[in-house]
Amino acid sequence: MDGEAVWKADAVALADRISSLLGVVRSAEAEIGSLLVEIESRGVMELFGYRSVARLFEHLADVSKASADRVVKRARALNAGRALDGSAVPAVAPATGGVAAGGSLSSPMIDAIVEALAQVPSECRDDAERSLLSFASEAGHKQVAALGARIVAHLDPDGAEPDEAEPSVPARELSLRRKRSGVWELNGRLDEETGARASALLDSLAERRTADDGADFRSPQERYGDAFSDAVDLALNSPDLPTQAGERAHVMVAVSLADLRSGVGRATLGDTGTMTAAEARVHACDSMLIPAVLGEKSEPLNLGRLRRLISAGLRRALFLRDRGCAFPGCHRPPRHCQGHHIRHWADGGPTDLTNLVLLCAHHHRLLHRSGWEVSIAADGLPEFRPPAFLDKRRKPRRNNIHQPLPFAA
Ligand SMILES: [Zn+2]
Ligand SMILES: [Zn+2]
Repeated sequence: MDGEAVWKADAVALADRISSLLGVVRSAEAEIGSLLVEIESRGVMELFGYRSVARLFEHLADVSKASADRVVKRARALNAGRALDGSAVPAVAPATGGVAAGGSLSSPMIDAIVEALAQVPSECRDDAERSLLSFASEAGHKQVAALGARIVAHLDPDGAEPDEAEPSVPARELSLRRKRSGVWELNGRLDEETGARASALLDSLAERRTADDGADFRSPQERYGDAFSDAVDLALNSPDLPTQAGERAHVMVAVSLADLRSGVGRATLGDTGTMTAAEARVHACDSMLIPAVLGEKSEPLNLGRLRRLISAGLRRALFLRDRGCAFPGCHRPPRHCQGHHIRHWADGGPTDLTNLVLLCAHHHRLLHRSGWEVSIAADGLPEFRPPAFLDKRRKPRRNNIHQPLPFAA
């Protein structure tokens, strides 16, 4: 389709063109697969000097190792080959290979059929493959995978049914990886019980905020992301957390004293990450991250190690005074809160009740970034002055949500 034809085409014609191009691509992929198996049969080492046909394809196609492995695995399932001694290596799904050459099967469809057939005893495979292929002509790969699972369960009922006598092993796995962009990606699967507990935990942390600083416009995904971050802080603050070399398993953030004071510049986080110095200032305010403060020549400075740490006794006093996030209108209880140094310890602020206020993670960040100001009033309680754009007179506000503790008479 040239530019003008594309411009003139209606919706149906555009979709038809995509379908026909997909047929060309898939049929070419099927032919590539049969060529890879032929190369493997003749000996990839002899022909090209490569250890395996997957590594050859990785370089030929300039694709990732994982995707080359997938292509080769699929090719072997569809095309019969020969071992180096000349003996035949049958394909699991030869008929599927024939249909794939015509370009009508997507890769996930082929994988769904192959995965089912691999679990079917060889004497039943031809029939099973026929059923799956005929269903594939009218259904999507997920439905075909479901049919495949039913066929496998029907042929091997003992294997598919869980053994009721033994408790099933929880199937939990999790991977947390830092991508090159600096974003972390979380992936995993949880058994029913853990999933339900995690969901209840995140639900309770992801509730919409009600506070004087305005409506909560976060999307559900953003609220659950924030909830996860809060859950991690909660776990890090738990006294049950195992220690590493006597320190709680906190992450080290390295930042220069000048950057920490000004909030300008960058800090390094853990082994690989970076964060802004402003962000490091928030984290260093309480001891969520262990700040390694560096001098002018990047030598570690020992200052603040004692001054910044809020002792258990001081934290209890702070809990008793503020009874939760002190920000006007916030409901968060003390266990979700961090101690904020009204005057940062890096600027010489003391770590005592007159300079500390209890804030949830959200309001802690808000206070560091926005025009809100907090101070301890004459009666010893914190009060917050809103930025001028919210209130021209900047009249101080207090949080009146947390009920006073019932003191014994
Ligand atoms: Zn702070
Ligand atoms: Zn709050």
